[in-house]
Amino acid sequence: MSRFFTSRYEALTPYTPGEQPQERKYLKLNTNESPFPPSPLAQRLARQAAGDLQLYSDPECRALTNVAAETLGVEPDEILFTNGSDEILNFAFMAFCDETHPAAFPNITYGFYPVFAKLNRIPYEEIPLRADFTVNADDYLGIGKTIFLANPNAPTGIALTKDEIEKIVASNKDSVVVVDEAYVDFGAESVLPLIRKYDNLLVCQTFSKSRSLAGGRLGFGAGSKALIADLRTIKYSTNPYNINRMTAAAGIGALTDGDYFRGNCEKIAAVREKPAAALTELGVVLTPSTSNFLFAKHPAVGGQALYLALKEKGVLIRHFETPLLRDYNRITVGSAEQMEEFLRILKTVLEELS
Ligand code: PMP
Repeated sequence: MSRFFTSRYEALTPYTPGEQPQERKYLKLNTNESPFPPSPLAQRLARQAAGDLQLYSDPECRALTNVAAETLGVEPDEILFTNGSDEILNFAFMAFCDETHPAAFPNITYGFYPVFAKLNRIPYEEIPLRADFTVNADDYLGIGKTIFLANPNAPTGIALTKDEIEKIVASNKDSVVVVDEAYVDFGAESVLPLIRKYDNLLVCQTFSKSRSLAGGRLGFGAGSKALIADLRTIKYSTNPYNINRMTAAAGIGALTDGDYFRGNCEKIAAVREKPAAALTELGVVLTPSTSNFLFAKHPAVGGQALYLALKEKGVLIRHFETPLLRDYNRITVGSAEQMEEFLRILKTVLEELS
């Protein structure tokens, strides 16, 4: 730390992103990326946009916003694009939380929520999951705090139903409920259609997983026009050109190429079942995931030991060394071939370890 770092941030522990190793090629199942490349249309449009990079991007993101509005069934002023969904989540903490509107989220969830809260000096409550890692929707009824719910939750992969989320939103009319649907396309129910019914609902989604654009950095929030106007105030007070030209163009391609997107989501959901069954057979305990990852605990081998042994053999999975998560690992569901390779190496590793 330099002697110039302000006391405001000196105690901040930043979020630790998943490893992105450059020195060696791994079977990379650690950051829930898509195993499939971006749609050919997305790639072509991004390449075309590269020729105009001398010009600033459109801060209003009009072309992308119009295509998204049409595709998702919302009005253009009910949606705001950001640099990954991390950015819209941070904007939501900035816009809708303070000392009088504390945040609330599960005690096991996306690790960035407490970091955003601390960054913005927002008090927060962490609400414990049930013993089986499910969120108890009743814990959130009428709590009058700004609620952040990843649905499906991370890293458990377990989803609440649309009805359960609606109950939470309806019972907290004077607080914003942010539903982070980063993984919703792999089998859970989206509450996006409810933004017209509830002016306190903000739905966040990302293009990083189901739309194969993790490296493009594109996400959005959708909600009532008033909520989106607030978030635009934050965006225009931080970084108006937050979406670069190539990413906006790729986003249009990813939205337009709906068949490619749906086909890939179906493939992941189908592939997920095979490693899940094979892992269960090996005695591994799994949560019922509706996302593009599995959350797994071996009865005899510790989470970190398994993570390290697999890494040694060229397989990267995600390990969280925190008290509630350290027995588990999160494994991205890749292509059928990747999962076969993963299972083959896992069996060898388990034999060696036991
Ligand atoms: N929400 C959840 C639950 C996530 O796991 C992630 C991915 N780390 C994000 C949001 C952010 O994704 P991105 O910024 O790539 O859109």
